[in-house]
Amino acid sequence: MFEFSPPDSFLSGKTILITGASDGIGKQCAKTFAQYGANLVLLGRDQEKLEALYDEIEERTPGLAVIQPLDFTKAHSDEYKNLASSLGEQFETLDGLIHSAALLGSRTPIEFYPESDWDKLLQVNLTAPFLLTKALLPHLSQSSDARVLFLSSSVGRIGRAHWGAYAITKFALEGLMQTLADEVANTTQIKVNSLNPGATRTNMRRDAYPAEDPSTQPEPVALMPVFLYLLSEQAKNIQGQALDARDFNPGN
Ligand code: NDP
Repeated sequence: MFEFSPPDSFLSGKTILITGASDGIGKQCAKTFAQYGANLVLLGRDQEKLEALYDEIEERTPGLAVIQPLDFTKAHSDEYKNLASSLGEQFETLDGLIHSAALLGSRTPIEFYPESDWDKLLQVNLTAPFLLTKALLPHLSQSSDARVLFLSSSVGRIGRAHWGAYAITKFALEGLMQTLADEVANTTQIKVNSLNPGATRTNMRRDAYPAEDPSTQPEPVALMPVFLYLLSEQAKNIQGQALDARDFNPGN
C-alpha cells in the first residue's frame, strides 16, 4: 500500500466537504482530515450519526467541523444552492470536495433489476454529486489549489454482471469527472479525479459480499495516505485521472 506522511497541520486553513461522512470511507476521511487541521463540512442523511462524528472530532480537534444533514434521495436543486450560499458565508473558499456517499442497491441481472432501485441509485450516486458539484464550483474556483474527488469502483470501469445501477452510476461519474476536469483545467486551480478505493471493510462491502470474512479486507484507514496525497501540493498536476488506491503510485 502507498505510504505518505505529510506534516501535522498540512490541511490547516483548508476547507473540505465530504459526502457520506457518517460512515465508512467518508467517516474515516473526516477523522483523518481533522487530525491534519482541515475545516470540515460533513454531509450525511443521518443526523444522529453526524452528531456522534461531530462530537468525536470536536473532542480531539475543537472548532473544525460543521455538520449538514441532507438526504440525497429527497434533496432538490435549491437545497444544494442554499448549502452553497451558507458555506459562502462561513468559509472564504472551498478547497476540497470528496464524493463518498453512495448506495449499492440490488445485485440483480438487468432483466430483473428493480426500477425503484434504478431511480434511487441514479439520484443518490449521480444526480446528487452533479448538483452538489455544480452548486459548489464557484467556491472551489476561489481556491488557490482545490480538489474534487469522486469515489468510483472497479465495476464503474469495466462492466460486470449483476452490479446494475451501481455500476452504471459509477461509469457515469467517470464521465462527469472527465468532462469537468477538462472544463476547469485551464481556467481554475481545481483538480478533478476519481478514485477506486478497492475492497474496503465497510457496510457497503459487507452488503455486497455477505459471505466474506470482513477481517480479510483492509479498513478505511489504510486508504488515508492516498487521500492525503491527493489533497497535497504534490498532487497538483493530477487532473482527469481514474485512479486506483490499491496500486496507487504517483510516479507511474
Ligand atoms: P458505506 O455504505 O459505508 O457509506 C456510504 C455513505 O453514504 C454513508 O455515510 C451513507 O449514510 C451515505 N449515504 C447513503 N445513502 C445516502 C443518501 N440517500 N443521502 C446521503 N447520504 C447517503 O460505503 P463505503 O464507505 O464503503 O463507500 C464509500 C464510497 O466508496 C462509495 O462511493 C462506494 O461506492 C465506494 N467504494 C467502496 C468500496 C468498498 O469496498 N467499501 C469499493 C469500491 C468503491 P448512512 O450513514 O446514513 O448510511
